[in-house]
Amino acid sequence: MKKIIITLDGYSACGKSTLARQLAKELNYVFIDSGAMYRAIALYFLRNQINSANSQAVISALNNITLQFKFNNTTGQSDIYLNDENVEPFIRDMQVSEKVSEVAALEQVRTFAVAQQQLMGIEKGIVMDGRDIGTTVFPNAALKIFVTADPAIRAQRRYQELYEKNPTITLKEIQSNLEMRDAADSNRTVSPLRKAVDAIELDNSLLTREAQLTLVLQWARNAIN
Ligand code: C5P
Repeated sequence: MKKIIITLDGYSACGKSTLARQLAKELNYVFIDSGAMYRAIALYFLRNQINSANSQAVISALNNITLQFKFNNTTGQSDIYLNDENVEPFIRDMQVSEKVSEVAALEQVRTFAVAQQQLMGIEKGIVMDGRDIGTTVFPNAALKIFVTADPAIRAQRRYQELYEKNPTITLKEIQSNLEMRDAADSNRTVSPLRKAVDAIELDNSLLTREAQLTLVLQWARNAIN
């Protein structure tokens, strides 16, 4: 059967990764969470105190970074590795969420990540989620989806997700992080978050995960055929 590229972009905490993962599983496609790549780079910058304003320091940091996705047999999902270390347990921490949009706005960082993302799509059969996947990474993708949801619902969903790991986290803290990242991601100069002109908009505020998946699978099958 013909294989296509499917892109999912949208604001923070709209459930893009969950949907992309489910969709890839149904279609037997590869799923790539591009946000995990920017988060792993931000983690490296934090750990090594890289100054984002110093372009030489940024370039040499990137020269020292290798990113890989490896399948985890226990969870059945892919984990991101930063220089051979599985950093999945750290990349969703608040410190990383506070830093990632600053790091992701850097031109060198985007060039570095986008080149790797494009290689991953060479054989098609991929579902990738992020902010610029339909606009910059795969502008010719056969199916582009732009996911939105009510900001209060997004914050509540993320709160439930993070609370299990960190019961001291507050809804307010999450709300302000989401607002900060949405503003930074939409207003940066390089590849800002935009709905591609040919993307289908999906507002999932009131949809169950199952209803959303059924709808998107239908779009995917139409695009494949
Ligand atoms: O998807 P997630 O919320 O994990 O992404 C974390 C951050 O990574 C985003 O807020 C954004 O700053 C950056 N990002 C990006 N481009 C992408 C994916 C993520 O700039 N394609």
